Amino acid sequence: MHKNDNTSKIVLIEDIEKNKDKTLHYEFNGDITELEGCEIIANLDLKSLGEYIEVKGNVKGKIQLECDRCLNKFDYELNFEIDEMYAKNSLYEEYGQEVELKSGQFITDLNGEKEIDIYDLLYQSVILQLPNKKVCGINCNEGLFVSEDEMNIPDERMKIFKNIKIE
Ligand SMILES: [Zn+2]
Repeated sequence: MHKNDNTSKIVLIEDIEKNKDKTLHYEFNGDITELEGCEIIANLDLKSLGEYIEVKGNVKGKIQLECDRCLNKFDYELNFEIDEMYAKNSLYEEYGQEVELKSGQFITDLNGEKEIDIYDLLYQSVILQLPNKKVCGINCNEGLFVSEDEMNIPDERMKIFKNIKIE
């Protein structure tokens, strides 16, 4: 199911910088083989800002998840933005590999490496998109482990009907 070979999963920083506007458009269309049923199309722009490389773009696709209630497998739609920064050289050694610039934006230290592993970025980004509670659909009622709260909802509604007097 590999639509990309290994070389296309890595982007060399020199390939970004040899372009006139120091921007490289990168397209990925394939599977994330470590994640079951995960097929994505990514359209990214990698831009050199001197000491930093900015990676921005959109990812669309799907991943197969298992429903927490009925245990059936279902396709979960993916559609999200990527906005990542890489530092070419180690600038924040004392803080470790990732430093948070502002809420939600991280800067990854390349430690002098001359390439960016786009496949790893896509893999990590998909994992961050996965919901805490995985439910196959609003009509899922096949589960054996329905919580008490969920069981009470129909009862509450019935009480309202019982109090209505028809004159
Ligand atoms: Zn379900």
